[in-house]
Amino acid sequence: MKVRDALRLARKRLQSFDVQDPGFEAEYLMRHTLGSSRESLLLSLDSGIPVSAMSRFQRSIERRSSGEPSAYITGHKEFYGIDFRVDPRTLIPRPETELLVQLALAFASDRKITNKPLNILDVGTGCGAIAIALAVNLPGAKVIATDISPDALHLAGENVARHCLEDHVTLVRGDLLTPVPLPIDILVSNPPYIPSAEILNLPREITNHEPRLALDGGPDGLAVIERLIVQAKDKLSPGGAMFIEIGWDQGQQVLAHARRLWPDAQTSITPDLAGLDRALTLRSPVGVALPL
Ligand code: GLN
Repeated sequence: MKVRDALRLARKRLQSFDVQDPGFEAEYLMRHTLGSSRESLLLSLDSGIPVSAMSRFQRSIERRSSGEPSAYITGHKEFYGIDFRVDPRTLIPRPETELLVQLALAFASDRKITNKPLNILDVGTGCGAIAIALAVNLPGAKVIATDISPDALHLAGENVARHCLEDHVTLVRGDLLTPVPLPIDILVSNPPYIPSAEILNLPREITNHEPRLALDGGPDGLAVIERLIVQAKDKLSPGGAMFIEIGWDQGQQVLAHARRLWPDAQTSITPDLAGLDRALTLRSPVGVALPL
């Protein structure tokens, strides 16, 4: 069978299972099967597919039709221009989470730290996406990445090793900030923030395949974010900042909680590229010297 015909059949099959963007998904899985770039796929549309590749492609289309996300089928996802290994042990990195990396990098470049390396902490690192993106872009920084899930830390460890960042990123198991002793200059986190009752209403790709631990933020979705803010008060260095991902409809509520829990801090909400509330920024007050 020609590549073009296999793609057409696959698109129809995906469409009949209500998969979003069936044409894109079919092409993406075909590129993965053949190991080709978009350009070389376009050039080979009229070539025949080897039988073994065809059966691998059909298997991946069946998995996608049953609701499995493409990233788990291919085992890869790009985040901040970096390739990550992903599997059901952790959440798949989302494009909107790149905002946290941008905010943290902008803060790091504004901050005039001369001789001291920045201490950066990624809480609930999952596959390590944010920690690794920051480590790659801030070669002088010390990055610690925590997760409560040993499975997640194993996957993060694979990604740290693939990018040769073992000397740069330290992985620590524990609940939020409890395993971290030193003062942190920049804290980033994409915590679970979906209200428990809403998890079942998410697309089946998420509900049936991604780890609930990475999504469930308790009854109002904000339980973990609140604990993070409380713990950060003791660990964020004066003048340090934290950047936390939030749900599109949580901005005002999160601001109110942040201001109540840490009244001296400067707080703001930043929208993502779609114009939706996406990140809480919280800057800890710069210590004021005692008037002696
Ligand atoms: N953004 C993810 C979603 O919409 C949720 C991620 C999270 O809870 N941290 O599925």
